[in-house]
Amino acid sequence: MDKHKRIAIIGAGPGGLTLARILQQAGFHPEIFEGETSATQREQGGTLDLAEDMGQTALKVAGLLEQFKEICRYEGEALKIMDKTATALHEYGSSENPEAVTDSRPEIDRTVLRHMLLDAVNPEAIKWGHKLLYATSLENGQHELHFENGVTEIVDLVVGADGAFSKLRPLVSKETAEYSGVSMIEINILDAKNQFPDMVELNGLGSAFSLDDSKAMLAQMNGDGKIRVYLSFKVPVEWLHNNGINYDNLGEAKTELLKLFEDWSPKLKNYIHYANGPIFPRRIYMLPVGHKWEHKKGITLLGDAAHLMSPFAGAGANLAMLDAAELALSIINHDDIDEAVHKYELKMFKYAGEMSSITKKYMDLFFETNAAEKIKELMKSFHKEENQKA
Ligand SMILES: Cc1cc2nc3c(=O)[nH]c(=O)nc-3n(C[C@H](O)[C@H](O)[C@H](O)COP(=O)(O)OP(=O)(O)OC[C@H]3O[C@@H](n4cnc5c(N)ncnc54)[C@H](O)[C@@H]3O)c2cc1C
Repeated sequence: MDKHKRIAIIGAGPGGLTLARILQQAGFHPEIFEGETSATQREQGGTLDLAEDMGQTALKVAGLLEQFKEICRYEGEALKIMDKTATALHEYGSSENPEAVTDSRPEIDRTVLRHMLLDAVNPEAIKWGHKLLYATSLENGQHELHFENGVTEIVDLVVGADGAFSKLRPLVSKETAEYSGVSMIEINILDAKNQFPDMVELNGLGSAFSLDDSKAMLAQMNGDGKIRVYLSFKVPVEWLHNNGINYDNLGEAKTELLKLFEDWSPKLKNYIHYANGPIFPRRIYMLPVGHKWEHKKGITLLGDAAHLMSPFAGAGANLAMLDAAELALSIINHDDIDEAVHKYELKMFKYAGEMSSITKKYMDLFFETNAAEKIKELMKSFHKEENQKA
C-alpha cells in the first residue's frame, strides 16, 4: 500500500483518534480535521466502560492498552439496579466489595480517554477549527472537502468519524439519525464523594440504575468524585421543550423534576435535591438498526457516523474504537485501499448490526413495566457469563 495516499479523518472523537494513531504507527500520514477549535473547547461528557472485546481490543492494536490499564477505574464497573423504592434488586461489586467485579469492562472518564488518545497522535496531524460543511465525490474516486473556515482539500480517502450528525453520511446513505423515543435530562452532583456521602453509599462507586413507571434515573460515579445522573423518559420528541422546565435556573428545574418523581423514594429523589452542577436536556437519536450502505470508492464511515445507537448497551465508543482498529488493520494489510475499505465495511456491518439490535432491545426493556426486574435478570445473566469467562 502506498503510505503517501492522502487519508483525511473527519472528527477527533474516540474513533477518529484511534484510527489516526494506528495508521501513524504503521507509517501512514493521516490528517484529522476537527470542528472544535482546541482539545479543551468542550467538556467531553461522562464515564465510559471499555469492553475487552471492543474498546480494549482497539487500544491493544494501538499499543495503548497498558497505559489504559494504569488509569482506568476497575471499581467503576460496580452496578446496582433499583426500583423506585430504592430497593437494590441486583448489585454487582460494591464499595465494600469492589473486587467482586471481573475487570473486563473498567471505566474511564471520556475526557481522560480523549487526552490519552490525543497524546498518542502526532499533534501536527490534527487540524483544529476545521468544521466540514460538505464533501463532493470526484470522478476518480477522490473527494473534495469544504470546511467552514474556507479551506478546501482533495483527498484519496475520507473517513467520516464525525459522529451522530455526520456530514459525510449523505454521500453513502439516505438514512438520517432519527429520534429514538427517549429523552434525558442530565444533572450533576459535584464533589459528591466529599459533600454527599449518603448519596455515594446509595450509588456505589460505579453505576446505579433506578427504573420504574417507564422512567429511569441512570447515575454514574465519575473519576473526579462527581455523580452524573441521566433522568430518562420515554416521551415525544418535543417534550424536552414543552415540559415547563427552565434549564437556565437549576433551582426551578429541580422543583419541576422532583414533581416527575413524586412518589419515588426520598433516597432516590436526593439525586435531584443534591444536584449542584450543570443541567443539560438531551434527545437520544439513532440510525436504523443494521444500517449499511453500498460501498463507494474513496469514502467510508466509522463509529456513530456509521451506526449511531442509544447508550443503553454502553457500546457506542467501544464500537467506534473497534471500527477504527478494523479499518486501520485492513488498510495496513491490503495493497489496494479500496479493497481494504470494502472488507472493513462488510465486517463492521455484521458486528455493529448485531450490537445495534441488542442496544434497541435494551433500550425498550429499560422503559417496560417491571423494568428493574427485567434488567436485573438481564444483568445477572450477563455478569454470570462474565464471571465464567474470568
Ligand atoms: C448520554 C450518553 C452516554 C453514553 N455512554 C456510553 C458508554 O457508557 N459507553 C460507550 O461505549 N458509549 C457511550 N455513549 C456513546 C458514545 O459517546 C459515542 O458512541 C462515541 O463517542 C462515538 O464516537 P465517535 O468517535 O464515533 O464520535 P464522537 O465521539 O461523536 O466524535 C465525533 C467528533 O467529530 C467532531 N465533528 C462533528 N462534526 C464535525 C464536522 N462537521 N467537521 C469536523 N469535525 C466534526 C466532533 O466535534 C467530535 O470531536 C454514550 C452516549 C450518550 C449520548
